[in-house]
Amino acid sequence: MANRIGIIGGGFSGTILVRHLVNQTNKKLDIILFNYTNKLSGGVAYNPKSKRLLLNVIASKMSAFPDQPNHFVEWCLKNGLAKENESSILASSFLPRAVYGQYLKDIWNETIEISRKNGHELNVFEEEVQNVQKTNGAYNLKSKNYSLNVDFVVLATGNELPGNPEILNPSFFHSEYYHQNPWKINLSNFKNDQPILIIGNGLTMVDTVIELRENGFNQKIVSVSPNGFNILPHRNFTFEYKGLLTQISEKHSLLEIVTIFNQELKRLNEFGISAEPLIDSLRPNTQKIWKMLSLSEKRLFLKRLRHLWGVARHRIPFVSYDFIQKQQIENRLEILAGKIIDISVQNGIVHAEVFDKKRNTKVKHTFSNVINCTGPETNISRLSDCLLLNMLNEELIVQDELNLGIQVNEQFQVIVKEGRTSSAIFAMGNLIKGVLWESTAINELRSQAKYISEKLVNR
Ligand SMILES: Cc1cc2nc3c(=O)[nH]c(=O)nc-3n(C[C@H](O)[C@H](O)[C@H](O)COP(=O)(O)OP(=O)(O)OC[C@H]3O[C@@H](n4cnc5c(N)ncnc54)[C@H](O)[C@@H]3O)c2cc1C
Repeated sequence: MANRIGIIGGGFSGTILVRHLVNQTNKKLDIILFNYTNKLSGGVAYNPKSKRLLLNVIASKMSAFPDQPNHFVEWCLKNGLAKENESSILASSFLPRAVYGQYLKDIWNETIEISRKNGHELNVFEEEVQNVQKTNGAYNLKSKNYSLNVDFVVLATGNELPGNPEILNPSFFHSEYYHQNPWKINLSNFKNDQPILIIGNGLTMVDTVIELRENGFNQKIVSVSPNGFNILPHRNFTFEYKGLLTQISEKHSLLEIVTIFNQELKRLNEFGISAEPLIDSLRPNTQKIWKMLSLSEKRLFLKRLRHLWGVARHRIPFVSYDFIQKQQIENRLEILAGKIIDISVQNGIVHAEVFDKKRNTKVKHTFSNVINCTGPETNISRLSDCLLLNMLNEELIVQDELNLGIQVNEQFQVIVKEGRTSSAIFAMGNLIKGVLWESTAINELRSQAKYISEKLVNR
């Protein structure tokens, strides 16, 4: 009987992993895939409610397959998104995320077909796996209606919801005016008579502002984040700079890396070029550099440089940037640097007290709703009653020292108690950010999926 592989999570990671697995013809496989929210294959990222929400990576870098770099661009051409002679424009375009969702759906449909042709067993369950337990050499995946044993488990659970910020009165978080999940807001319950508060000012804030405006919300939007940095656009995205990487090829301390970076930046500035190509040039080696740093250097990076890195790294296409700029110029969007002290509801109106860093004073605002766009919670022990917390309690996974996710070895096998490695449980994507730092974008996930599939098949 074939070993059974249980994959938890059917976003990009889980579904592309299935694709690599079923491509194998020399072994019959038995695969079960659990996915409980969002349609299969797109996850939250590629099932957007609006066509105006764009990919933040150009099309030529979005192929789902590491060994076929033009796969996405070719799919777009085949599907009439541009004419043959426009392929270079297409390759450097930021396409709608909904288009990418369609691409992934096509890949998934092909995957089912390939699986059937190659005689594999592939079953999908639309339920949340609540726990994994070790039972007589196998692993039991438990959801509301199923209890299934598997030989191998792959955790591809993606992003958790944002954690609630610390405020004086946490009872507010049970209010109907609070939206912890920014990707699943029921806008029909929204009142349009007061400003809206967004906590956080990164990529999810941009999406949320676009979505609110598209749905006719005309009140002012206020976003609060610790530094209130302005989001940056993608400039110079076709200019590739290699100088920095050659200098950071051997072991360097964090301080040395920052010094080299600043020297290079000064040099580029003399040619009128801004920092983005430098940041992008580090990208292929970010994981290597992260692994090179000591734990205390990683802590220092998180404390001092994380926000700056986030701004430089998470840029948006110019059209989205122009939209956000216009909102700010027209005073329809205010980005505050500061901290939320307290939020409460009185007579159906949300009252928030915010420490405004720039004015160095506390200010009070009223809102109709509050949306949490602070980014996913990564500290598993802060989550409540969910798969990862249960697996932590079962001692099947351990958190990394920085509480950014869970620990894995170089082969993506999870580390269990006392530093031992599990030979049967693998993890990929956002969950392993603490080990790799960059483990979110398609170019990282597609390689991880291929690698893990090869490991599983060779077993
Ligand atoms: C809004 C947004 C835009 C993005 N845009 C880009 C971009 O343009 N380019 C780029 O390279 N990257 C982008 N990203 C990064 C993105 O995270 C990855 O590209 C990719 O979508 C992550 O896929 P995933 O499968 O790892 O996670 P997810 O897409 O989060 O999928 C995880 C799936 O697992 C399921 N799941 C979780 N727990 C369980 C459980 N216990 N039981 C059953 N099912 C479970 C969830 O329901 C979900 O469907 C974006 C991310 C977001 C959030």
